[in-house]
Amino acid sequence: MSQYVNRAVVLAKRPNGEPQNDDFRIEEQPLVPLAEGEILVRTVWLSLDPYMRPRMNDMKSYAAPTPIGGTMTGEVVGEVMESRSTKYSVGDRITAYGGWQEYFIKPDDAPMMYKIQDMGIPLQAYLGAAGMTGRTAYFGLTEIGKPQQGDTLVVSAASGAVGGIVGQLGKMYGCKVIGIAGGSEKCQFVVDELGFDACVDYKAGNLEKDLQQACPNGIDIYFENVGGDVTRAVAKLLNSGARVPICGYVSNYNDTDLSKVQTPQDILATSPNPPTARFFVQTEWQDQHQQTTQKLAQWVKDGQLVYRESIVEGIEQSIPAFQGMLKGKNFGKQLVSISPE
Ligand code: NDP
Repeated sequence: MSQYVNRAVVLAKRPNGEPQNDDFRIEEQPLVPLAEGEILVRTVWLSLDPYMRPRMNDMKSYAAPTPIGGTMTGEVVGEVMESRSTKYSVGDRITAYGGWQEYFIKPDDAPMMYKIQDMGIPLQAYLGAAGMTGRTAYFGLTEIGKPQQGDTLVVSAASGAVGGIVGQLGKMYGCKVIGIAGGSEKCQFVVDELGFDACVDYKAGNLEKDLQQACPNGIDIYFENVGGDVTRAVAKLLNSGARVPICGYVSNYNDTDLSKVQTPQDILATSPNPPTARFFVQTEWQDQHQQTTQKLAQWVKDGQLVYRESIVEGIEQSIPAFQGMLKGKNFGKQLVSISPE
């Protein structure tokens, strides 16, 4: 028997709307001895991300739903505690889809598991600015947004993990960057700390007018993170030839009947200038994972990419932190410190 006991957050039942506490269950699970080629990993950091909410539904998507009784999906930074692999040694730091749990066992050829090349930045950055959300920002903006000098780029959920990086990359490409975020504190951060040119508070009640004022030359690129009313306001201001990377539409993730949702594609089709819009998943560019991670990590190290984090401690806190994130209570990348280094 292993000396470690695992605690995991499993999906107890499928939520109807906002996830409730009893949709989750924390289970103690024994850890079996390693087979040849396997590693035992201790979770150090767990990333909480909006995509986890659609995975709780039983619906067709680009990824299979989490089964009832299954461990909640999630990417982690972990430390190898035991190894029967020639590829990983005890003490190696990795990123992997370990799930919401304190320990996990993986075969050493598990997909999307990588050894961290330590560049002297905080480990948890490999889940954020130099991790999945950073790569999402990079691929969505460069491959679909195709930024040009002087373009007006609008980014929703601008203070968040993806949006905050999109805007800073947009500035590197010479765009005029306008954020959209909820509340004056987030908007101030987006301008003062992240260096966007302006930020519109969609909760202030004048979204259409405020956005029009911030974008006097219309919108060339809209990086879509939220959907709904924000997208309706943006659609009216798109220029001919505009591009829209559709990254996600978090404002609808808790809707009870997703078949009735007006998707970003539906809304954008009503624009006077329907854009080139495409839903993308960052894993489309998995072959560029390593070089892009290195590039983003270097920018973090050099201070060219800055970010904010919301951190809670302990596996139990993953549930309220996740519920809050789907309502905008997080401010920046949402992380759970599972077991400090
Ligand atoms: P964030 O860190 O941005 O957190 C979510 C934010 O969404 C909240 O802070 C809140 O910001 C905003 N939000 C929540 N509810 C609403 C609402 N009802 N209306 C408007 N805004 C809302 O999360 P991420 O950066 O991790 O994710 C952003 C988007 O990117 C999501 O849609 C996610 O699904 C998507 N994504 C897609 C990937 C892909 O490969 N396609 C990969 C990773 C993420 P505020 O307070 O400003 O409203």
